[in-house]
Amino acid sequence: MFVFKAAVVGAGTMGGEIAQAIAASDIPVVLKDIDQKFVDHGLEKAREVTKGQLDRLVKKEKLTQEQADTRLEQVLGLIEGTTSYDSFGDVDFVIEAAPEKMEIKQRVFAELDEVTPGHAILASNTSSLSISEMGEATLRPEKVVGFHFFYPASVMPLVEVIEGADTDPEVTQTAYNFAQTIKKQPITCGEVPGFVVNRILNSAVGEIWRAQEEQGLSIKKIDEAVAAANVAPMGPFFLVDLLGLDTVMHVAEHLQESYGDSFYVHKGMQQLVADGKLGAKSGGSGFYENGEPQIEGDADPDGEALAELMKLKAIVEACLVLQEGVCTVRDTDLGMMAGAGMDPRRGIMPPFMGADMLGLDVVLEKLERAQEEHGERFAPPTVLKRLVAQRRLGQKSGQGFYAYPQADEGEQTETVKLETRGAVAIAWLANPPMNAISPQVIKDLAAVWEKVTGSGDYGAMVIASSNPVVFSAGADIKAFTQMDEAGGKGLIDSGHALLRDLGSNRVSTVAAVNSLAFGGGCELAMACDFRIGAYSAVFGQPEVKLGIIPGFGGTQRLPRLVGASKALEMNLIGDAISSGEAEAYGLVSRIVPDHELFDTALAWARKLAGQAPVAVEKVKQASTDPDLDEGIENEKAAFASAFQSEDAKEGISAFLGKRSARWQGK
Ligand code: NAD
Repeated sequence: MFVFKAAVVGAGTMGGEIAQAIAASDIPVVLKDIDQKFVDHGLEKAREVTKGQLDRLVKKEKLTQEQADTRLEQVLGLIEGTTSYDSFGDVDFVIEAAPEKMEIKQRVFAELDEVTPGHAILASNTSSLSISEMGEATLRPEKVVGFHFFYPASVMPLVEVIEGADTDPEVTQTAYNFAQTIKKQPITCGEVPGFVVNRILNSAVGEIWRAQEEQGLSIKKIDEAVAAANVAPMGPFFLVDLLGLDTVMHVAEHLQESYGDSFYVHKGMQQLVADGKLGAKSGGSGFYENGEPQIEGDADPDGEALAELMKLKAIVEACLVLQEGVCTVRDTDLGMMAGAGMDPRRGIMPPFMGADMLGLDVVLEKLERAQEEHGERFAPPTVLKRLVAQRRLGQKSGQGFYAYPQADEGEQTETVKLETRGAVAIAWLANPPMNAISPQVIKDLAAVWEKVTGSGDYGAMVIASSNPVVFSAGADIKAFTQMDEAGGKGLIDSGHALLRDLGSNRVSTVAAVNSLAFGGGCELAMACDFRIGAYSAVFGQPEVKLGIIPGFGGTQRLPRLVGASKALEMNLIGDAISSGEAEAYGLVSRIVPDHELFDTALAWARKLAGQAPVAVEKVKQASTDPDLDEGIENEKAAFASAFQSEDAKEGISAFLGKRSARWQGK
């Protein structure tokens, strides 16, 4: 499923900016509303956002003013504002951003079903309504999916891709890839009230609302204390003024109706909404007016205690989301980072990472105390108890919700850390920020491999990532373009020799793929004997998008694993596939919950390490396709020729310059 043209229905607060994000990625988009004045407003918003983005590039001297002016018209030229469905006959992906009422949504979906081609995906930006119910209004419920942006859509990177009861996994994956195409951070999740981010955020902030009303606390002091305690990017009352009190209240009420009293609705907020005081959108009056609190209460809050309650409630809710199978560990944390502004670089930790840092035993104890003091809503979730029972205590123990390297003492290479546990070695990729396969990584991995295979002490090696959110995003393109021809060739040869040995040596190899494994990262995983994938793992060979081709065996090992046709599709289209699809096609041996990945990979490695070394070596060598080496030689020649083409220069420079490439076929 491909998206050549998109549409957005509803040009309000969200619609205009969503259309802008699509057009800025060079995809034509129709923006429809019921009245021309709303359409014009949406178009104006799109102009304002695009101009702002381009102005910043001019300021940074990345574009001249003239280039920016041309680009502005180009982007806006891709948005067709309209009040009719006339241009919907050839759209591939529609995002409905009409008012949050099921009758309206169902009417819009029924209309869309009639005016769009049968293959088109119909997505909704709803914050709270059922995707499945919208699907029921169409003859294609399997092509209906949630596509939830966060306000303001031009700034917030997150899109929650929500699977309804009938959504086809391929549709979910197309939506995921489309979100990436328009430069957003997608996460996938199940259809539950509040989805992931609003659910966790509301659950946590509700504790502040509750404390404020029960203890008559000053909202101003709360906002200051919460911001200072580094649990959220800004104070909760201040934030609600920006978002709109009515919007937040509706979500809060909906969540309380759905989940019960563990969610709190602030009564003062309900009163303010009844009085028409909605925050910034109603002229500035909300929780504050001219900086003055409009809610009674002047008691001093204990900032630390409030921050702690928020954190504890967030981890409880995040665990429930995980236990219910709504979302994975990694996607939940990514969602809180990209949708709620939690930024580990600023010390604001998303729930699972935060719990791992603190120590899961410590979190459990704190929750037990909070449960005694505040009640059942703080009851420690099963998954947390289970991890503590296993002594998986977080960073300090090497495994919590994520796995952490506990590198051996002594000399280590720069980008690959060696850890040994009995007969199993672990090579931890540690090349921040994206674990790119750079010349240094190849050198370091070869050094680690030599140590492991040379000692005779190890029967298996796991390749794992020390980065919780990425396995490896691919080759370090920039470093490769900076090498001279001889250096490049030497590196490619040694890289291939290493990968070949991973698959033929008597030391067995297992890749523990926790997350993105793209390009060279996917090829490294494929060179191992086995791949175990986390639910959050995503695989892809996107080289073609840069005008180059896979260079570390992607044209050879991929077809041997997934079949010629699927491999050709992945190598020629370049889109990502989910862990589920990877398992279905045999790219991975097993997929497991994120927090069980490393243990599972270790178990495989332990089993393999116990097998007879000679037999292992002979099986591996005898099972290798004798044509693999010849195929790799062909790929090397093809890679060199593609890499030197004009198209490759254009593709790489477009990639580095974050623009679309224009191919010449030279
Ligand atoms: P909005 O009221 O600002 O805009 C909705 C627009 O849809 C209006 O311009 C309206 O004229 C138009 N519309 C109504 N009926 C229509 C129809 N039949 N066909 C075409 N257009 C129609 O609402 P919004 O805040 O942009 O929210 C839109 C959706 O996005 C809602 O589902 C909301 O829950 C969701 N959302 C909102 C936010 C937010 O912060 N505002 C954030 C995330 C998601």
